[in-house]
Amino acid sequence: MEILNEIKFSMPSLSVNESAARAVVSSFLIQTDPTVEELSDIRTAVSEAVTNAVVHAYRYKQGKIELTVRLLRDREIYIKVRDKGCGIKNIEKAMEPLFTTAPEEERSGLGFSVMQSFMDKLTVRSKEGTGTTVVMRKRLSEHGD
Ligand code: ATP
Ligand code: MG
Repeated sequence: MEILNEIKFSMPSLSVNESAARAVVSSFLIQTDPTVEELSDIRTAVSEAVTNAVVHAYRYKQGKIELTVRLLRDREIYIKVRDKGCGIKNIEKAMEPLFTTAPEEERSGLGFSVMQSFMDKLTVRSKEGTGTTVVMRKRLSEHGD
């Protein structure tokens, strides 16, 4: 993977940092001159991943969330959201639309589906008790002004 540019951002799992993460990603992406839609898609996907770390990974405690944003060749954006929280028992099941372990909190189980549909590629690695790493990629369009 050839990395043309990269930022790393680390934050405690506070819900106010969901918007901080969106803002960080947006400011980094300015250099790529994304379309309004591309920027909005990526912001939403990042938000879902960070929210999951806040509400699920560190449900009973507070922990650290690491966000990495990379600009790769051919206008490809790479985003990694990593936590060291409770981990996911069954990743396949967790990624099914409408599956949630928190229905009582009015979660709809659509976070992973949103990430999947707004980005080109989504990979989830997780181990119970160790944490979860979500990697998303999206190739930006070549648009002339
Ligand atoms: P919504 O995102 O619609 O509010 P949700 O968060 O439950 O609801 P998803 O984001 O699709 O739905 O996640 C599905 C399930 O996967 C969650 O209910 C949770 O059990 C598990 N999960 C997701 N991310 C993590 C994580 N970082 N750590 C631990 N469990 C997670
Ligand atoms: Mg979610």
